[in-house]
Amino acid sequence: MFKRFIIGLFLISLVACSKPAPNKLDYLENIDSIVMGLKGTNVRQHMNILASDEMQGREAGTENYDKAAQYLIQNFSDLGLQPLGSGGSFKQPIRFIESRLDTESTAMRIYNDDRSVDLIFKDDYIRSGGFGNVSEKITAPLVFVGYGIIAPEYNHDDFEGVNVKDKILVVLSGAPPNFNTDQRAFYSSSRTKAEIAIAKGVSGIISLRTPVDQKRRPWARYLPGVGSPGMRWLNKDNEPHNGYIQLQGSATISQTGAKKIFELSGHDLDQIFNLHADGLTNSFDMGITATLERSSNQREVLSSNIVGFIEGSDPILRSQYVIYTAHLDHIGIRTGKGNDHIHNGAYDNAAGIGSIIEIASSILSMDERPRRSIIFAALTAEEKGLQGSSYFVKNPTVPIESLVANINIDMPYLGFPVADIHAFGAEHSSLYGAMERATQYIGMQFTPDPLPEEVRFVRSDQFSFVKEGIPALALKAGTISSDINIDGDKELDNFLKNHYHQPTDDLNLPFSIEGTERFVRTGLVLGLIIANDEQKPSWNTDDFFGDKFAPK
Ligand SMILES: [Zn+2]
Repeated sequence: MFKRFIIGLFLISLVACSKPAPNKLDYLENIDSIVMGLKGTNVRQHMNILASDEMQGREAGTENYDKAAQYLIQNFSDLGLQPLGSGGSFKQPIRFIESRLDTESTAMRIYNDDRSVDLIFKDDYIRSGGFGNVSEKITAPLVFVGYGIIAPEYNHDDFEGVNVKDKILVVLSGAPPNFNTDQRAFYSSSRTKAEIAIAKGVSGIISLRTPVDQKRRPWARYLPGVGSPGMRWLNKDNEPHNGYIQLQGSATISQTGAKKIFELSGHDLDQIFNLHADGLTNSFDMGITATLERSSNQREVLSSNIVGFIEGSDPILRSQYVIYTAHLDHIGIRTGKGNDHIHNGAYDNAAGIGSIIEIASSILSMDERPRRSIIFAALTAEEKGLQGSSYFVKNPTVPIESLVANINIDMPYLGFPVADIHAFGAEHSSLYGAMERATQYIGMQFTPDPLPEEVRFVRSDQFSFVKEGIPALALKAGTISSDINIDGDKELDNFLKNHYHQPTDDLNLPFSIEGTERFVRTGLVLGLIIANDEQKPSWNTDDFFGDKFAPK
């Protein structure tokens, strides 16, 4: 820790000393005053309003979210951004179906010729409401399929040799440990698994967590979210986008639930864990059948992305757009421990929204605007599964091919004078170079993702853009503190363990003006660099995500 700090100091002073020499920012030689004009106190002011109790945690689909959206519209319009929502307004309204599990209605039973076992809701399994029929009951045989993935790059096919049509899959969470981080990120996503399963004609996925995942996220952490509504946006035919309505028999099971299932089927679970940890496959019919029932309370709700833009100064390049995104929603009111039920979401993600408002404000104060146009989008329903960003890329208000890069800011923890920054996903594209230049200019250290196993690159809104082939990154404040008396690792760890998705992610947490300024200014300079570069951003050759998603 100490060692890292010393190196940090050294780098900072190195950059500080070399400041008078011409930096590599070309056109951006005169941006010092613009950058210094971006104030941490202004970011904080937005947080004070958005994370106040009055906003009630900004849950998408509620009037509390709409209040926050109104605040954004007011700010965007006062600043002088041009509207880029629907019909000449800042709002891009989205119709959603909201579904809440009727927790009294759910039942799950497994049986074979000899015995039947009822699984207990919350102890053995959890599930959420469905987006298909309001009442569902499904009976189907269980088939174990390892991680439930097909990865041609690794010659890995968990479906080889088993017939899964009209059956319910039992799958391990995650992906084989021998996959590299990017592939593991992509294949471990529940969306990827659901899409493969649906293509195979499956009627449900029962997901069981590997020992690694159990350790990372204990079962108790799942329980507060049980019974809270999910959302999917509705397409023109009134179908929920990625509603996965075929998967009627889906659930997540705990260790005790897994034990019951594997005991009944006569298989040794520990043996299976070990085998799959070694990257092997073994898939088999479990010889048991499951019946799952549930009722869901569904309704249609409306929620909006808020979108504005600054037109570029270059007559040709202005038809290309860099897009800053941050989600505006949080998880609202949930009963948990203690008396405070309002999940204010100060860092998740009032901080990100405050950041993009101030970045917009800085750019609008420039005499010479950036060459490319720059979009600022406050997204809804991220907490419901990246819904606002997914809707935006499928219903873009500018041609999708004109979006050249996405910079997403989600939950930067700014409670101490942070001196380093991560950019999840930057290593996949030329955005890495832009990050290097931006951090150098600010005197911020550019450090790699310390928790690649958390696969956060695929877990926030930037991934919606990646899936459309648009180079993207997520900015995250790091863990190195410029104050020798503060241990940044400890601070971030404390936030993630005790405040993340808790009512205490609120305005009582510490806030560092200095750290905020370094972080947000880096985000500003990054956007300016991308918007002014001669070349538009591109994926690296042979990059996994570039090859998979970029238009050929
Ligand atoms: Zn977030």
